[in-house]
Amino acid sequence: QGQARQTNVSDRDHFQEQNDTKTRGYIIANPVLSRVTNKWGIPISIPVDKGGADTAVLFVAIELDRITATFESERHKPNGTIAILRADGTIMFRSPMDGNVVGSSIAKSESWIQYLSVLPKGTYISKGSPIDGASRIVSFSRVPGYPLVVTATASKDDVLSAWRLHTEILSFVAMVVSLFCMLLGKVLITAMNAEANARSELERLMLTDPLTGVGNRRLLTQSLEEEIVRSHRYLRALTVVFIDLDHFKQINDTYGHGAGDQVLVNVAECIRSQLRQSDHFGRYGGEEFVVLLVETTLDDALPLVERMRGAISSLKFPELVEQVTVSAGLAQLKAEETSASLLQRSDRALYQAKANGRNRTCINDGH
Ligand code: GH3
Ligand code: MG
Ligand code: MG
Repeated sequence: QGQARQTNVSDRDHFQEQNDTKTRGYIIANPVLSRVTNKWGIPISIPVDKGGADTAVLFVAIELDRITATFESERHKPNGTIAILRADGTIMFRSPMDGNVVGSSIAKSESWIQYLSVLPKGTYISKGSPIDGASRIVSFSRVPGYPLVVTATASKDDVLSAWRLHTEILSFVAMVVSLFCMLLGKVLITAMNAEANARSELERLMLTDPLTGVGNRRLLTQSLEEEIVRSHRYLRALTVVFIDLDHFKQINDTYGHGAGDQVLVNVAECIRSQLRQSDHFGRYGGEEFVVLLVETTLDDALPLVERMRGAISSLKFPELVEQVTVSAGLAQLKAEETSASLLQRSDRALYQAKANGRNRTCINDGH
């Protein structure tokens, strides 16, 4: 919940189990004392992919603090208890809170074997609690949908009317169960939303060039594949433009890397401002940019690219003496052509522009 601190949890059992394909799935792990918040919590881990090499696991911790206050005010005092047990008999939570008890197992106790592990719900009298030896009236219920059992108890010594207690404690267990389900649902929804947000932010970052803020090579490659499919299917024109800064190494060498970075940022912004919404643009690498002009033939692309080059050479850089110029290479998609071939042809056109003296545009029309 709002924690941004990092901690290594790879040794925790909820992480280990997700690494093993046999135990992967929806896991409610042993309660742990958080290394981040120093509070007891129930870790729940959910795999968010199909497994294999890239195991992404969503961790949610239900902080027991959040339910302690409610349970503490509701439990039958002074000696009654409320507990949440996992399906294997591990105590996940107990009110009154006791750090020594949380995490221990009552799987070997008579109560567990006779009642808690076998019945969906019920009431019984325990002669001696496996925890403190006290004799109690115990009501319990499974939590629907989760491998958990909730128990509420009252000490026989505290009870004036056993009959009254019986009804009270039963309705109370129902309340605890629904409260816990609600809380769990809320925590899970929050965590899943957070996970979805984190995932889309991660995707955005993975496709963005951090320096210029425009798309990166990965995004360009994706977009090109998609546009090629569309162009082939609907017989639409598609032109790829390679743009490379001229003598950029010299700019770096003369004015420093910082000045070079600023040039890249301004050039990227300049190119972007010249494009239509439907075009794709990104930094292909170093000082090389690529534009995908959709529904655009070479004839339409050429004046557009020349205008772009004009705008770039008019950019003002107070630190620089010389003008910044670019060379460009164009190629238009041919019938049944692949992305690799199209990229190679526009790169070849760029090479031609460099060889012919830079600060110009060349076209590759298919050779
Ligand atoms: P040409 O006209 O033939 O393209 O010459 P050039 O100097 O532009 O090309 P070259 O490939 O020799 O050098 C490219 C330079 O771009 C070298 C590299 O240090 C610089 N560069 C690549 N990425 C960045 C970056 O992110 N920031 C800065 N400042 N420089 C970069
Ligand atoms: Mg260059
Ligand atoms: Mg280059």
